[in-house]
Amino acid sequence: MSDTPRVSDSNPLHTAVTHSMVCGGCNCWCDDIDWDARRPNEFGKACSLGKHYFQSSLTRSEKTSSTKDEWIAELATALQRARRPLLTGLHLSFLETQRLAAAVADRCGAVIDPFMSATARAKTVAFQQSGEITASWGEVKNRADLVIYWRCRPEQAPRFRERYGDLADGEFVRSADRQVIVVDSNPDFKDTWQHQGTDNLQFVRVDEDDRITLQALVEASRPGTAGPQSTSSAGDPSPPPNWWPIHAALSRAKYAAIVVGELQTEQSSTAWLSRVPLFQLLQLWATNWNHQRRCVSVPFPGTTHLGRVAQSVLTWRTGYPMSVDFSVGYPRYDVVANSWSELIERREVDFILFFSGDSTLCSAQDAWANEYQRLTKWAEQHPLWEIGTVPRIGTARRFISTLAASTEPQARPRTVGRPDGVLLPYPKLPPAIDNREPEVMERLWSMLNPATAADQQ
Ligand code: SF4
Repeated sequence: MSDTPRVSDSNPLHTAVTHSMVCGGCNCWCDDIDWDARRPNEFGKACSLGKHYFQSSLTRSEKTSSTKDEWIAELATALQRARRPLLTGLHLSFLETQRLAAAVADRCGAVIDPFMSATARAKTVAFQQSGEITASWGEVKNRADLVIYWRCRPEQAPRFRERYGDLADGEFVRSADRQVIVVDSNPDFKDTWQHQGTDNLQFVRVDEDDRITLQALVEASRPGTAGPQSTSSAGDPSPPPNWWPIHAALSRAKYAAIVVGELQTEQSSTAWLSRVPLFQLLQLWATNWNHQRRCVSVPFPGTTHLGRVAQSVLTWRTGYPMSVDFSVGYPRYDVVANSWSELIERREVDFILFFSGDSTLCSAQDAWANEYQRLTKWAEQHPLWEIGTVPRIGTARRFISTLAASTEPQARPRTVGRPDGVLLPYPKLPPAIDNREPEVMERLWSMLNPATAADQQ
């Protein structure tokens, strides 16, 4: 064993710190935020996005539309009477809510399909077929000597780089020793990266359509493949392809992490199935390198991978990650036919229960504007009920607020999940109005099925 001390021996980030709060400002869920009641407007290490989140939590008021038991009873009846009910949203809900929503869908013979981005849907289908070579963000922080950011948006998760990415000192690698490649096709993408840690960054501009680049990288990474032609057919030196620095960096790395924001195809963004082959190529590429070194792909936080926990919960409960239909008494899966948007398009559902979750969680609300708009239009003529902290669907027949002015300890735990699959307990900011979403779901469950306690679901 080497006598060389580990980086952690001198790493100030590893000294004991009391972690009291989890920030919901973005999908990074930073759990190193100290908060002191004597200084209520200071939020430790939170970035400006995080400070905004905590301020919003502290200053929001209780909704007048309270959580009425008679409304929940009315909702239970509506769900039972509906011919084809649909439960959707859930992207900004606690894990406990998502778990009970799956139980309610099962009990009512409903379809349950969480809100997920086109990219997240495509990725799920691809990985069901090809598997996923991945790791936790902590492993990336501790081991990756090469970090490739593929179409990531640092402004959506401002502290990702310092906590888990290229700016973090890990157990086995220092930030200064990491090689970092930023991949994008946007001509302005350098500007959003250069304000922090410019020394190690290398920028690679790729084509608009990732299929072209990924195909080339897959071919080049096949064992025994030679490098690019160094001369043209006329005998002149020809420049290497634009993707060559990525391949060259991987050839030198011991542990490479491809941090994926979006994958892009020139086909219509609504045709999410057209993105499936992109993720298959990504996995093939990582697989080829794993013969020679460790190579993983991990999701970048931000809006693209929001909803991943809902997907995990649904998988634990039913075996399927989305678009699950309970109408015949057991879970059936069809990613296209049972997607919430397709069901609306085909006019199949006659009742929607929409979970808008907590409006202060993640600054990603605008990312779902189109989805909210579609539900708003549908609800002009059909019954839709919404559960959440702030109404999102203006035409909803009923809005059940989950806010409660309570100083009592929360009756049920709250759990949130990072896109890399790590679950975190979610402590409430003491003076903030409480979001009682799991308790509302517990009451709905007990009205639907008085014989079984909610915690047995
Ligand atoms: S990076 Fe995200 S989770 Fe972390 S403090 Fe900023 S907003 Fe909060």
